[in-house]
Amino acid sequence: MNHPDIVIVGGGMAGASLGAELAAHAHVVVLEMEDRAGYHATGRSVAFWEETYGGPVVQPLTTASGPMLSAPDPEFHDGSFLSPRGTLHIGRPGDEPRRDAFLDAFAGRVDLQPVDPVALVPGLRPGWTLGVMEASCQDIDVAALHQSYLRKLERLGGEVRLATRLEAARREEGGWRIETRDGAIHCGLLVNAAGAWADDVARACGVAPVGITPLRRTVVQIDVPDLPSPDLPLIMDMQARFYFKPEGRNRIWLTPHDEEPSPPCDAAPEELAVAEAVARFEEAVDWGIGRIVHRWAGLRSFAPDRAPVYGFDPTAPGFFWFAGQGGFGIQTAPAAALLAAAIITGAASPSAIASVDSRAYCPDRFR
Ligand SMILES: Cc1cc2nc3c(=O)[nH]c(=O)nc-3n(C[C@H](O)[C@H](O)[C@H](O)COP(=O)(O)OP(=O)(O)OC[C@H]3O[C@@H](n4cnc5c(N)ncnc54)[C@H](O)[C@@H]3O)c2cc1C
Repeated sequence: MNHPDIVIVGGGMAGASLGAELAAHAHVVVLEMEDRAGYHATGRSVAFWEETYGGPVVQPLTTASGPMLSAPDPEFHDGSFLSPRGTLHIGRPGDEPRRDAFLDAFAGRVDLQPVDPVALVPGLRPGWTLGVMEASCQDIDVAALHQSYLRKLERLGGEVRLATRLEAARREEGGWRIETRDGAIHCGLLVNAAGAWADDVARACGVAPVGITPLRRTVVQIDVPDLPSPDLPLIMDMQARFYFKPEGRNRIWLTPHDEEPSPPCDAAPEELAVAEAVARFEEAVDWGIGRIVHRWAGLRSFAPDRAPVYGFDPTAPGFFWFAGQGGFGIQTAPAAALLAAAIITGAASPSAIASVDSRAYCPDRFR
């Protein structure tokens, strides 16, 4: 049927989660240009839920998502998507102002405890004397979360069309005419959840871009024969030069925290970033390095102010932005999807997101 109420462009975490929340209210079609949903940023994340990640503007979305991730609707998923991890933020002399600003920014919002990192991390190199423990951080089962949203969408009558790209769209009486290689689709509302392609999709619809910039992030999985314990926290540099976390008994996931601007594409890791990741890891701990098992890169897409962009475009009736999820689009997905669905349907905000103020995310700020 080519006259759905709502077309969502993008079948990653953003499109799937919002589609699932809207499907009870409207006929929703999600267009995904790849053969499988979740191929781009969603399938490449480091999979943690950390309340401070993304800064104070993002934190209310992350915090509100926590209970929904740990106790999801049993009709669509059995058990929690989260498992305990904790984050230890580490720093060296000179990082005190950074540490203090970090503690101040989240005072009264997130439980952060100054600690001695040496006592917590066997093999920490000399000089790492500052520590802040963020015990609430959890790992997320990203694939299970994404699949549960797709299941909910389809059970409620929604549809995902794979290998179907929005080529162009234009306004018509009552909504939009969307061109795909399989023909035109007519809908009342067009949602832009296209991740790194969000500005391109806007242009293809005749809507001015808001300045979403994809930034490449590299991840390496390395065997570490002397990993002291698989239960160590995520270890994050206060200067944002690296973070790593154990994965099983002798392996870590590691990133040099790179943010290289990139056109939207199938991102691939660069050798230099991989080498930087390894060098920074070795600066932090003496656990040794084994085989690099896997390396990948993905695009994290940011608006100019690094806050997400959720809302109707004031210059284009029936065009809704759900973009700019940066490095926090998984951990914020439940709250963000509820928020956007409430704006679209005009319903009152559910109590689960009572603490979230949507004005911070409104696209009006770029118009
Ligand atoms: C290395 C890395 C680590 C990360 N770690 C974390 C983490 O630990 N925790 C966290 O919360 N977040 C993390 N993130 C961020 C998170 O992955 C993203 O914020 C999230 O996946 C964004 O979801 P999305 O649906 O907006 O984008 P995507 O998953 O990229 O989906 C957008 C989709 O739109 C499709 N599309 C584009 N144009 C069109 C078109 N014209 N027609 C049809 N389809 C189109 C694309 O094919 C794509 O599948 C990380 C990201 C990276 C890269």
